[in-house]
Amino acid sequence: MNQVLVIGGGPAGLTAAKSLVDRGAEVVLVEKKESLGGNARELTCKGIVECRNCGVCFAIDRANEVLKEPSAEVLLLSEVASAEKSEHGYSVKIKSSPRYVTDDCNGCGKCVAVCPVDGKAIFPPTGSGQPRIHWIDRSKCLHFKKGKCEKCAQVCPTKAVDYEDRAKNVTRNVSAIVYATGIDPVDACEISRLGCGTLKDVISSVDAERILNENGKLLRPSDGKAPKRIAVVQCVGSRSVKLGVEYCSKFCCKYATKISQMLLDTDPEINLDFYFMDLRTLYEPQDEFKLWAKSKKTVKLLRTMPAAVNLGKDGKLALRAASETDLDITEQEYDLIILSVGMKPAGASTELAKSLGIQTSQMGFAPGSMELESRGVYVVGAVTEPMDIEETAVRAIAAASRMHRGASQ
Ligand SMILES: Cc1cc2nc3c(=O)[nH]c(=O)nc-3n(C[C@H](O)[C@H](O)[C@H](O)COP(=O)(O)OP(=O)(O)OC[C@H]3O[C@@H](n4cnc5c(N)ncnc54)[C@H](O)[C@@H]3O)c2cc1C
Ligand code: SF4
Ligand code: SF4
Ligand code: SF4
Repeated sequence: MNQVLVIGGGPAGLTAAKSLVDRGAEVVLVEKKESLGGNARELTCKGIVECRNCGVCFAIDRANEVLKEPSAEVLLLSEVASAEKSEHGYSVKIKSSPRYVTDDCNGCGKCVAVCPVDGKAIFPPTGSGQPRIHWIDRSKCLHFKKGKCEKCAQVCPTKAVDYEDRAKNVTRNVSAIVYATGIDPVDACEISRLGCGTLKDVISSVDAERILNENGKLLRPSDGKAPKRIAVVQCVGSRSVKLGVEYCSKFCCKYATKISQMLLDTDPEINLDFYFMDLRTLYEPQDEFKLWAKSKKTVKLLRTMPAAVNLGKDGKLALRAASETDLDITEQEYDLIILSVGMKPAGASTELAKSLGIQTSQMGFAPGSMELESRGVYVVGAVTEPMDIEETAVRAIAAASRMHRGASQ
């Protein structure tokens, strides 16, 4: 194996990159965002009392390992402009946008504090994204818009702000390509009857993960108070013909059960109702969560799907659902409602994917194939089908192993 290109710096791309480096390959990892970690950057570790095997730390650990690897070139804020078949693999043109902050940044955040722009023009990396180097959004920055401001450069203790940074075009010749462009969470507000976007205290699981990751606790967005009655609603935007997401997203039962447990760990007094169709905790024994719920006096599992959420009396959220026997319509009041969203594949049908010969399934995923791998293109991670971080990692290692075997034959 010579050089391998990895497209996507999420759990799949990172695991493949690490596994390839361990097998003696040189890796060029191209990530379009400012930091590594993919969707896991905004997810919270769910193990407050004990590890709950959510897998989130795994992704961030891999990011740090890859960043330390001398045989891995990591190109952030970068995209592949073209990949042309050559005699021994692919000739790849990569375009990197400027970050305007050098590797000397120590993440102190002094620049953000002084930036006068409403909503800021200089940012830390998203969530737990790695490396912890800040970046400037040129479209918002007054230095570029008006040629005036240099406040961030003036306070920076390491002289890391570099307004002269420019876009770079590089070409790499690689023997194979790992395609790991991942997923986009479904927008919970597409299901307006559940109150997303209109009722402040109805939040998506993406919001819940992000808030918990940033603050360690989940407070009501409307008034900052600790919620005492919480509903968790499963299958929002998954298994829905209307939204074109007809499949089970497979990981939302896993993370939602763990978030529920985490919330009870932080406050054992919370009343939590868990609404679901099927409890598809595929990655671990289903009974584990059911037994846990049974052991908690304040937790109820309700096998029914809510029909609507409205604003009830006293500003509480009123959730209407058929009873479990379908005989009555019930209305329950909550302080906070979490909508557990599923996912759609990302990057499966782009021009780049097409140019590499990647084909999509009826559901829009890019499953990859033996034929594609024989041409040096390995599709890995959740862009192939819904999967959690652990499964993503296992499959990425398997793909790296196939690539290594193929190269040594
Ligand atoms: C709300 C929520 C909670 C979750 N909680 C858990 C959990 O607790 N445990 C768990 O195991 N799983 C959880 N998951 C699932 C987990 O996020 C996925 O399994 C995992 O992120 C899949 O990894 P991936 O690398 O395939 O994709 P992604 O994480 O999506 O990474 C893909 C990367 O590729 C980059 N990219 C895309 N296109 C390009 C391009 N053209 N060029 C360069 N880069 C590109 C993206 O910017 C991204 O960094 C959760 C998902 C959601 C939505
Ligand atoms: S002030 Fe400088 S070192 Fe501190 S976060 Fe900003 S750019 Fe980085
Ligand atoms: S130059 Fe000024 S506007 Fe631009 S990021 Fe720095 S502080 Fe913000
Ligand atoms: S994993 Fe659970 S919540 Fe997600 S789509 Fe499947 S059944 Fe619904």
